[in-house]
This record gives sequence, C-alpha cells and structure tokens, in this order.
Amino acid sequence: MSELNNNSELNKDKEPAASANNNSTEADREEDENAYSLHPVSSRVKKVVKFGGSSLASAAQMKKVCDIIRSDPSRRYVIPSAPGKRFSDDTKVTDMLYRAYDAAARGEDITDRISAIRSRYQEIIDGLHIDIDLGEEFAVIEDMFRRQAGRDYAASRGEYLNGMVLAACLGFRYIDAAKVICFDENGKFEPEKTHQTLREYLKNIDYAVIPGFYGAMPDGSIKTFSRGGSDITGSIVARAVRADVYENWTDVSGVMLADPHIISNPEVIDTVTYRELRELSYMGATVLHEEAIFPVRSEGIPINIRNTNAPEDPGTMIVETTFRQPKYVITGIAGHKGFCAINIEKDMMNEEVGFGRKVLQVFEENGISFEHTPSGIDTFTVIVHQDEFMEKEQNVISGIHKAVHPDTIDLEGDLALIAIVGRGMKAKKGTAGLVFSALAHARVNVKMIDQGSSELNIIIGVKNDDFETAVRAIYDVFVTANLGTETR
Ligand code: ASP
Repeated sequence: MSELNNNSELNKDKEPAASANNNSTEADREEDENAYSLHPVSSRVKKVVKFGGSSLASAAQMKKVCDIIRSDPSRRYVIPSAPGKRFSDDTKVTDMLYRAYDAAARGEDITDRISAIRSRYQEIIDGLHIDIDLGEEFAVIEDMFRRQAGRDYAASRGEYLNGMVLAACLGFRYIDAAKVICFDENGKFEPEKTHQTLREYLKNIDYAVIPGFYGAMPDGSIKTFSRGGSDITGSIVARAVRADVYENWTDVSGVMLADPHIISNPEVIDTVTYRELRELSYMGATVLHEEAIFPVRSEGIPINIRNTNAPEDPGTMIVETTFRQPKYVITGIAGHKGFCAINIEKDMMNEEVGFGRKVLQVFEENGISFEHTPSGIDTFTVIVHQDEFMEKEQNVISGIHKAVHPDTIDLEGDLALIAIVGRGMKAKKGTAGLVFSALAHARVNVKMIDQGSSELNIIIGVKNDDFETAVRAIYDVFVTANLGTETR
C-alpha cells in the first residue's frame, strides 16, 4: 500500500477533535488568555519546560508535573513527550504506536492495539479527573493507520495526544506542533522557518503546551525528529521565546559524573559546559538528545536538567561558559566498549610525506569514520568502531597495503575508550599522572592515550574486560578521594 499523505482531508488544517474544558482551539484563543491569570505575567521571566516520557507515564506522574509547572509561573511553555514506561518492562506509548502501525501495514486488525493505547491515556485522564474525551481523536488515528498515513504520523500521536491531556489539566493553550515546527519537502528540519513561525505564533501567548518530537512538511505531512526528539523541540521553543532557561525534566537529578551502572550512586554534576557535555555524550553519557544543544547554544540559554521525582534537587546546569570551577578536577567520566585498533608499522614512516593521509583515505573510501590516530616514529594506529570495521575488514587491509606498502598491519580488538573530561584540568597539575597511577594500582593496562589540544579531556583505551575497573579507579581517585585539586 502506498503511503498516504497524512495531510488528507481527514486532518488538513484541522483542530484537535478532542473536546475538553480547557483544551483551547484557535477560535477561542482570546477567551482563555487568562486561564492562568492567577499568576500575572509580571516578571517576564520565561522558562521552557520539557518533560520526558517517564515523567508523564501515569496520572500520578502527570500530577507531579502539573504541580511543578504551577509552582512557578515563569514556567510558561511546556513540551511533553508521549507517556513512557510506568515500570521497567512496560512499553512506551511511542513503541505501541509504531507496532500498531506496522501491524496495520501487514493488514492485521489493529482494534485491540488501538484500544490498549487509548487505555494508557484514559488511565491518566481518569486519574487526573479531567473532562476530556479522546474518542474522536482515536477514531481518526485508527482510520489514518489503516490508510497508512506514515510511520512518523503514527509515532507523533503519542505526543500529540499527551499534549492535549496536559493542556487540559493545566488550563494552558494547546498548540499542535504541526503548525509551528517546520520540515522541508525532503523531511529536513528548517530551523529559520520554524524560528520565525514560532515567534509569530507565540507572540501573544503567555502559556502554552506544544507537543514534542514532531512537526510538519510543507504539504502538512507529519515528520518526526529521531527518537528522543522532544528534547529538540524544547530547545527550539526555548530559542524562539528567548527563554531565560530551558528546563529539561526527567527521572534523574541531573547529569551523573559517571555511569550509574558502573558506579553506584555517582555524584551529580552541578554545572557542565556545552563542550564538556558534548565530549561526555559522545562517549556514551546519555542525558539529552545530541541535537538538543544547538538551538539554545546559539542564544546562550542554559539548560537545566531536573528530576520530576525530586523537584527540590537543583539538577545540572548546562551552560556556554562559566567561572564556576567544578567541585572536582574532573567534570565527568564516560566511555564505552567496542573499539578496535589497526596498527600499521613501516620503517622510516616518519620520512614519508602524506602517509597518514593515504591511510585515512582508505578508511574514508570504505565509509568508516575514525576516532583517534595515535602515532609513533614508525607506527601509525587508527582506532575505529569494531563492528563498522569488521564489515569491511579485508577491503581496508588490502587498501592500506596498496596505499602505503606497510611492513606489518596488526589488529587489536575488544578495546574500550574512556574519556576523562573537565574544564578544570587545564589549570591543574598532575591530572594525567593521577589517572595513570590509579590505573596502575588497579592493574589496568593502558593501551592508548590521547589528550585533546583543548586540555578538556584525556582519552584512554583499555581492554573491554578492564573497562569497569578502570572507570571505578578513576572515579575513586578524583571523586571519592578528591585528589588533584592543586592549582597550577
Ligand atoms: N516519544 C518519543 C520517543 O520515545 C520522543 C521523545 O520522547 O522525546 O522517542
């Protein structure tokens, strides 16, 4: 079945079908302008608040969210995710939607799947005692699924409906993200068009709920960001309204200093710069969608990661730059397994102009991006993701032979990389020394060392099997023992 343009007459320019007391439509926009008038918008402080799926998974969670929003009148623009997991083996509504859509594509009857999704929302609506009926919305959705309106359309309904429920609960205006988040006809996000559209749209709206994760293409077809994309919507809205802060509410009290699967109860980082966070996320710390940083970064708007289940915790501030020195020498540790090293040796390599370029070109031709290239006088090593490399292994090896005629090429697999990140390292002495003595004490063999020119990170490579031991050793020395704080 061909994909139907999901902007068919069924949903073209249409307002949400749900009926709710406070669920505003464009027509009654002016009337409920004061739905939140208990809090005069006097201070003009603006916060954009995004809530993740686990914060909105049940009525009890949704209630916490409403309390958080109501407790601070500057929390004006709310970006919800779809309901996430209520318990560890629960299914996220987004996944239920994808599955229902795929079942419809296979020609299966999806009645039960749709009613299971509906009951997730009904449970929330009943628990919150709000007067909103999503019956008509679900009839449209079921029909659109049968007509194969697109997987993105399907997935987006999680946020679309959750936004309606939250808006009804808060008495905020509901704005369908399809009206304000713009993608081009190839499905590429259009930052400037979105920015202008949002600015214009929100000009006279003080309080609104805008569902995360999706927008629309010029013909009205729904397009989503990649998974976890509500973080991006929040950042885009924060930029458009020139928010003072973009609060991103989740189920942890901020960015952890190290992976909690390795370190039990790691400390939370109080302030991290965008650059540090980028290093940490690249190496595996998952806090925010990677692309969520860019819109706010261009305006210098800080992101505050907060915990819906512990709203009193200050969380982590993610900032452009700061005078605040981190509590420890290092800001955070992150890393992951699954790398391999291709060690190339050739006598007199140092005299051969263009050696490195020719080697790297072989990787480029095979579509493999490299992570690091430590080198010696007659050795040159390329570190890459092992799974990517394995697919093209023999092509790369023969390519290197052809390109530079090495004496030997030898492979070392099952490596883990660990990034020790911290803006504070630059002003301290002995940081690298501490890392290596900690690893020596823990009997971990260091396979590779790389320090970025910005002195913002030290990257080390160890065997996969030593990964956890190495992270613990580094954490213990810098955090538990708090060594290395002596200023240069
Ligand atoms: N609900 C979507 C997902 O599960 C988007 C999001 O939560 O940000 O990926």
